[in-house]
Amino acid sequence: MTTNNHTAEYHDAAHHVPTRFWHVEPDGRVQCDVCPRFCRLNEGQRGMCFVRMRENDQVVLTTYGRSSGFCVDPIEKKPLNHFLPGTPVLSFGTAGCNLACKFCQNWDISKSREIDTLADDASPEGIANAAARTGCSSVAFTYNDPTIFLEYANDVADACHEIGLKTVAVTAGYICPDARREFFRHVDAANVDLKAFTEDFYRKVTASELAPVLETIEYLTHETNVWVELTTLLILGSTTRIPRSTR
Ligand code: SF4
Repeated sequence: MTTNNHTAEYHDAAHHVPTRFWHVEPDGRVQCDVCPRFCRLNEGQRGMCFVRMRENDQVVLTTYGRSSGFCVDPIEKKPLNHFLPGTPVLSFGTAGCNLACKFCQNWDISKSREIDTLADDASPEGIANAAARTGCSSVAFTYNDPTIFLEYANDVADACHEIGLKTVAVTAGYICPDARREFFRHVDAANVDLKAFTEDFYRKVTASELAPVLETIEYLTHETNVWVELTTLLILGSTTRIPRSTR
């Protein structure tokens, strides 16, 4: 699924950066390989997440260095209950999302098509220093899924590690293997939102798929040192029924 760039277009070259995970298809379209949505883009088109687009025959991230907001939270609010317990974390996010959950609590951010959502200019070093100044032990990529702004998140993570802060990803885990490896090597702890237990729910309610999310959880728990906790939103009658095959 793609979005034409003539709807509420904004163009701010300073915040457009090249990305790595894409290739050119035989028909000339450029395919983004960050998440299993595999958006195939003509020049000027944006992906379903809205923040990655084809520009000059490559895929660029258009929200580098722009945040939709900051907040100092208890780490338990991410929620992480066994990672640096009792410490404050600086939460920040950008705009857009690669899922389309019908129950999204941050829909104004995740489905934003407006530059106003990205009001705060925020360099990676600026974010890390703000976290240190406010007594935080870590910085969390949250509010919207860091999968879609991984180049920015990775640089923030490097700046945090430089001054001894940890990093936290709050994510749906809907990401392809190469991008997954690249992103999570910058992350110290992750809360993966396992939204349900059936492909049917994932397809109908989130417009994504369960299998890649389970792969991400397996990857994190078996192949990395990232601290992992899972969250599942209970929706009576929907996510509370767990099929025997997936228990
Ligand atoms: S990250 Fe965005 S542009 Fe890339 S495949 Fe996913 S939704 Fe499409």
